Amino acid sequence: MRETWQERFAEAPDCLKSTQRQQTAVPVLDFAIGGGDFVTMAGPCSVETEFQLMATANHVRRAGARILRGGAFKPRSSPYAFQGHGLDGLKMLARARQESGLAIVTEVMSEELVPMVAEYADILQIGTRNMENYALLEAAARSGRPVMLKRGMVATVAEWLRAAQLILDNGNPNVILCERGIRTFETSMRNTFDAASIALLKQVSHLPVIADPSHAAGHSELVPALAQIAVAAGADGLIVEVHPNPAKAWSDGEQSLDFGAFDAMMDGLEPWLMARNRGASRRGTRNSRREIAGARAMEAVG
Ligand code: PEP
Ligand code: MN
Repeated sequence: MRETWQERFAEAPDCLKSTQRQQTAVPVLDFAIGGGDFVTMAGPCSVETEFQLMATANHVRRAGARILRGGAFKPRSSPYAFQGHGLDGLKMLARARQESGLAIVTEVMSEELVPMVAEYADILQIGTRNMENYALLEAAARSGRPVMLKRGMVATVAEWLRAAQLILDNGNPNVILCERGIRTFETSMRNTFDAASIALLKQVSHLPVIADPSHAAGHSELVPALAQIAVAAGADGLIVEVHPNPAKAWSDGEQSLDFGAFDAMMDGLEPWLMARNRGASRRGTRNSRREIAGARAMEAVG
């Protein structure tokens, strides 16, 4: 007999849809993630300079982003690569927030840093390398800030949901899942974008799902196509790396969009979002017709 999703994800019961909970909307400033609006998070991989951050914040806001991303603490594959500005980076993010009105998402890499990062960030990002760092997840959960949990690069969906369950168990309902690509035998791209995981999560889980086409692809020219696929798969939003001059970026320049490419990506998403909304409103119409018919039947009976 075929295993049900409830059985497969039995270790993450509170992440699954139920009659009481069909969708979680995570509140951020004056909007929500998972509440029906498609939310774009955009910004540089690393916070580098005041100019780089402000220019990017102002640009992505005008193009429709609601959240500014940028790493102040950077987990790097090479120990010799730029590790981030730390507290100074957080302060730059806070100024960018003040000037642009954008919310801030930024990574927290260790348990001890949670209070400091939570003071500046609207959303705490847990990176792929830390998905199963349960001491960090507990501390992040208890900070009270929404937590964006990136999928471990070698994590199954079940393991990912189990980590999300731990955050819920620590009293924080505001968990956002982020598909950022996984390791497979394919090496042409940085990772393999698992769009099917987005479709699956949207069917079985009430938690909002965000796609990261930048880290999934590793190449900027692939980012717009993966973003469209994410919309089609049902993602609640995107997190995308954008830099004023990707060739000069201190980290992840090859996968960062310049301002023109970001605008083109946002424009290119419009028809896909419209098609998705049309589908949803058609379903809505059908539902309301059914509801009206049901109400009439009740009246006739009663
Ligand atoms: C990032 O968002 O810059 C990052 C380091 O992401 P990940 O943890 O998915 O590699
Ligand atoms: Mn990056």
